[in-house]
This record gives sequence, structure tokens and C-alpha cells, in this order.
Amino acid sequence: MMSGNIHKDITGSDDSVSGLESDEGSVRKANIAIGRVVGELVRTTLGPRGMDKLLVDNTGMGIVTNNGASILREMVDHPVADLVVDVAISQEDEVSDGTTTAATIAAELLGEAEELIDQDIHPTTIAAGYLAATERAVKVLENEAIEIDATDTDRLVEVAKTAMAGKSINAEANIPELVVKAAQIVGTENGVDQNDVKIEKITGGRVTSSIVTDGVVLGKERADPSSPYRVEDADIAVINKPVESRELDGESNINISSATEYDNLMKSERSEAVALVDHLTNLGVDAVICSEDIKELPRALMAEQGIYMARRVDDEELRILSKATEANIISNPREMTADDLGHADVVEESDIGGDRKTSIEGGAGGEAAMLVLCGSTKDVVDELHRAVTDALSVVALALREPRVIPGGGAAETAITLDLRNYATQHDTREQLAIDAFADALEVIPRTLAENAGISPVDGVVNVQAAQSTGTSTAGIDGETGDVVDALEAGIVEPLSVKSRSIEAVTEAVVAILRIDDVLPRPDGFDEKEAPGEMGGF
Ligand code: ADP
Ligand code: MG
Repeated sequence: MMSGNIHKDITGSDDSVSGLESDEGSVRKANIAIGRVVGELVRTTLGPRGMDKLLVDNTGMGIVTNNGASILREMVDHPVADLVVDVAISQEDEVSDGTTTAATIAAELLGEAEELIDQDIHPTTIAAGYLAATERAVKVLENEAIEIDATDTDRLVEVAKTAMAGKSINAEANIPELVVKAAQIVGTENGVDQNDVKIEKITGGRVTSSIVTDGVVLGKERADPSSPYRVEDADIAVINKPVESRELDGESNINISSATEYDNLMKSERSEAVALVDHLTNLGVDAVICSEDIKELPRALMAEQGIYMARRVDDEELRILSKATEANIISNPREMTADDLGHADVVEESDIGGDRKTSIEGGAGGEAAMLVLCGSTKDVVDELHRAVTDALSVVALALREPRVIPGGGAAETAITLDLRNYATQHDTREQLAIDAFADALEVIPRTLAENAGISPVDGVVNVQAAQSTGTSTAGIDGETGDVVDALEAGIVEPLSVKSRSIEAVTEAVVAILRIDDVLPRPDGFDEKEAPGEMGGF
């Protein structure tokens, strides 16, 4: 863990933050500085050309990541920094995107606030200005938003692509397309339940071999070589206990003292197994999918009856299967009724990414998808997996709240320009704070330009000029640094990712500005019993 580094660096250094003059102002200054460091930590990872960070823990293990939340989670341990980090992390948890943006903007808002404080603007005034600016910014975003719908595959693919920007994924692989297809397969009028998309990782293949299938793929081949490869129009029994010859009755020790007894035992075992398989065939079962073992005798009998079997199937897959085929998961097949059976068009053993698996298509429940992700090494597949899960939740969000805004700094620039105008309607002091907020948002186009390798100043100037004379959808192409129409270039993000993040960021920044004292924690102080808010107990 690198915990404590920031704390140490700041408080231990000899700049304006330490060696503090007077109480109230100095505490606030220190807090602002800490908040700013948090943003600086992740800023260089922003956008499609953002750099990765190598995080190394004290055992020397490293992970390479571009994910703002991971970086902050690993590196930061300070109560004030945590206010900013929490915004980023809750952004990650709730919308899986926009973490770097949130931390970057927070840092900038704190920096602007610091300058205003130096000009003797009171923190309360700054807070009021920031809050007014935020409310206005959300309105601007809503104005900029365009509606999409679930059938708008092209736009949704753009949303997925923008969400995956900066994740080192082979551009030839149509991963964003696969993500959208999966979301559309499982989507209902109630939205997309991500749990309905099963993700299978295969190490060894090429990323371009990744596929999405309608239906469920179980990680297991068929359980018996003499059973059929494929059954159609299949009634399916889904079982989560071992399928044994005998019904288990708790008597595990049977004493056998003679050959006759053994013979009788075998006979009764066989007849119980026959009875079980008769029961299943009478119900019309064509496939038995079990998360535990299917013992040899019932297996052989079922194979004779032409029943497809898969055993030791993953529990999570079993759950998805039951949903997709509308089967009840049962533990005792002897008590199973026809109502418990699921149904699918096809159950078959097939080759997926070089492995034998069981695929189930056309389930009665209709809403399951399987994403099979392939990659040359475990690291590649894991990174792909993270990127895909994130993109999937962003696409799910775009389907739930189907409005998108232009990315590439376009939306932030539109807000900046609008706020400069809006600020003039306020008294001088608040006006300064609103202007400061407008300036702070320039960090996004500036950083995108910078990370794309062009002059950050030019980037901001160009995009503002393009918006002032043309459309508010002008943004920075994060690959080249050129000004483009972000909507036409397909750089789009869900409205809610951005509006939510601006609101949460302002809230954290305002909280930091309001802290004017840090008291030591009394001995035996219990956080749960503490009244009031931070700094005020
Ligand atoms: P975050 O953690 O905030 O999501 P990212 O590294 O994913 O950080 O960068 C997100 C920013 O990159 C957004 O402002 C988004 O509009 C922008 N972006 C994504 N793809 C592109 C692109 N191709 N060109 C320009 N900007 C892009
Ligand atoms: Mg992102």
C-alpha cells in the first residue's frame, strides 16, 4: 500500500502548505492543496491518449492501470483527500465512468478557490457561486443532450467506445459492438440487468476471436460421450444437487456382510436409478444440467434415453440458465414436476474459443447473453474484462436514461462559455466564483489536448473559438488533438455520467471549503456516535 504518501509529502514539505501562518486560513489552504494533489495524480490518464500508471505495492507487485478510481483507491489516505477520492469512487461504483474527470475537475475547482481566497473572497461566497454555477451547468448539459433509443445501435456503440477510451484494446477488435449486442440481447423495458450477461474469459486466443452469443454458454462439455451432441426443442431439468442412483437419506454407512447382500444392494440401487430416469423421461426431459456430479449409473441410463447432460456447471451459470430457460432450480429430481422444467430451442455441445462447452439457445426466458473474451495472456484478458464490464454498465445507463452529450471536452466547453455569460447576472463577488468555475472546467479540453500531444492552450482556444462561431458540439479529438464535431466523430457520453459527476464534485469541494479547523480526535472517540459533520464535532 502506498497509503500515507500524500499526507507525508504535503505536510512534510516546506512549501506554503506547511509552516503555516494562522489557523483558519492555513488549515483551509492545506486542505485545498491536498485536494489538488489528488487531481494531479490522475490527470495524465484522462482520455484516449491518457497514460497508464504503474501501481506498485510494498511487496513489489505492480499493476498497470488507467483507471482513476483504482489509482486513487491505492494511493490516497488522508481525510480531506478522501472527500475527493470518495466522489471518484462512488462515480465508479454508480456509473462506472467519469472518475478521472471528477477528480481532475475537483482539483481545479479547489485551485481556483485558493486564488479567490487570496483575493479575500470568503469561502462561503465561493461555495455559493460554485453551487449556482453547478445548477446552471446541469441545465446546459440538459440542453446539449440528444435523445437516443434502444435500437440506436450505432450511437450505443459510440457510447461504449467513448467509455473504453484509453483502455489499451486492440482497435481491430469489435469489442464495443459486442458489448452493445450483449446489452441489447438482455435488455427489457426494465433496462439491462448486467448479471444476465455472463462473461467468459479465454486465455490464449486473439482479442478479435471474442464473441457474443444469444443464450447461455456453460463452461462444461457434455457429461457422457454416449449421450447426444445436440437436442432440439428441449425440456431442461436444472439441478443443484448431485444426481445419485439412490435418494440420499442421511444413512451413509451401509454394512455389507455377504455377497448376496451386496448383490441385493446393487439391484436396488439400479432399480432406484431406473425409477429416477423413468420419472425424468416421463416428464419429457431432454437435457439435464447439474451443478454437481451426475453419478455413473444414472448418467449411463440417461445417455441411453438420449438425454443431453452437463455436470459440475458453475452455480452462477446455473442461475443464468434457469432464468434464460424459465426453469426452476431443483435439488431433488425425484420430486420434479413438469412445471419445473425449462425450455430452449437448442442445447448442444459446441466449440467456443477452442474449448468444448455447452450452449443453450432460444431459451424461453429469452434474456441471457454470453460474452466470450479472448486474449493472448491473462493480463490482456483481465484488462479486457474490466473495460468490458465498465462499458457494459455505461451502455446500460445510456439505455436507462437515454440521453447523451458530446464528449471530448465539448460539453465542458459549452458550460464554460455559458457560465461566463451567466456570471454577469450576479454581484461581483459571486460573479468571480462563477467565472472561476467556468475556468476550472477548461481543464478537460486542456488535458485532452495535452495528452494528445498538442499545445494545451491552443486546444482550449481552438475549441472555444469553434464553439463561439459554430456549434456547441465542437470538441477535441483525443487521438489527434484536432477540433472536431464530437457528435459526428462519435465521441458521446451518457448525460447522467457528466451531470452526476459535476454535482458530486461541487459537493465535495464545497465541503472542503467549509472546513476551517481540524481538531484532534479525542481519545475513545467513536465515529458512530459523533454528532454533526466533519470538523464540527
Ligand atoms: P474518466 O475516468 O473520467 O472516464 P477517461 O480516461 O475515460 O476518464 O476519459 C474521459 C474523457 O475522455 C471524457 O471527457 C471523454 O469525452 C473523453 N474521450 C473519450 N474518447 C475520446 C475521443 N476519442 N476523443 C476525445 N475525447 C474522448
Ligand atoms: Mg472513462
